[in-house]
Amino acid sequence: MMFLRGMATNASLQIISTEGLGEAWKWKIWRNISFRNICLCDLRGRKLNVALFGDLGRNFDAEQVFKQSQNAPIVAVFAGMLVRRYAGKGFTVCSTSASKYYLDLDIPQVQEFHASLTDPHKPILLHPCQVQNPVNPADLVKNWRTIKQLKSLNPHELEPGTTFLCRATLKGIDCTKGWFYWSCFHCKRSISRDGINSLCIQGCPKNPPPVPRYKLNAVMEDMTGAMDVMIFDDKAQELVGAAAEELV
Ligand SMILES: [Zn+2]
Repeated sequence: MMFLRGMATNASLQIISTEGLGEAWKWKIWRNISFRNICLCDLRGRKLNVALFGDLGRNFDAEQVFKQSQNAPIVAVFAGMLVRRYAGKGFTVCSTSASKYYLDLDIPQVQEFHASLTDPHKPILLHPCQVQNPVNPADLVKNWRTIKQLKSLNPHELEPGTTFLCRATLKGIDCTKGWFYWSCFHCKRSISRDGINSLCIQGCPKNPPPVPRYKLNAVMEDMTGAMDVMIFDDKAQELVGAAAEELV
């Protein structure tokens, strides 16, 4: 069980599950960072994900919480968290360097929350980390290419999932063919629209309705030449500093 603080409104939420520790590559700091995902649920059954990064995630004793939750609910207070909205994923609560959490804290709010629990007690589930993408930096370094080299790659000779690095200057964004596409809320694929109906070829549910996502045509240049690079979705949002949905 959980009581969230540090948000615009306090929310009483239940921990459904916690995941094992995962690792993800962060380009900005050029290293892998560890994280732990925790899944929460409100009284109406809506889910919310909390991601604890670095030491906070490492030190969160999921096995101990799992064991303890077999007998009695555990109330956690999360403080100093950041709420982020990811297109297609909804809201995620992320830890920052200032975040802290407390388990079974002896304060009136926690006692009140304990008292409000009426449902039959359900132990917290423990899952392995669902999605992670660690990278070995040594693998990246040997994949430096110039723009000229990138343009002469033979796609039929590439191993699937190969990543290349290229140091280049962003000359500008070419918007002559648009800068976003209407995408399926669920699978992010482009959808066909005839003005009234929208259809995902993957057969995803119609609701929520399609969302606009970035598809920026960036013109990149280095000493060896220039090339167009498509920047999609989250990466483009980081660059622009606003969600495509807001600008549309
Ligand atoms: Zn879809």
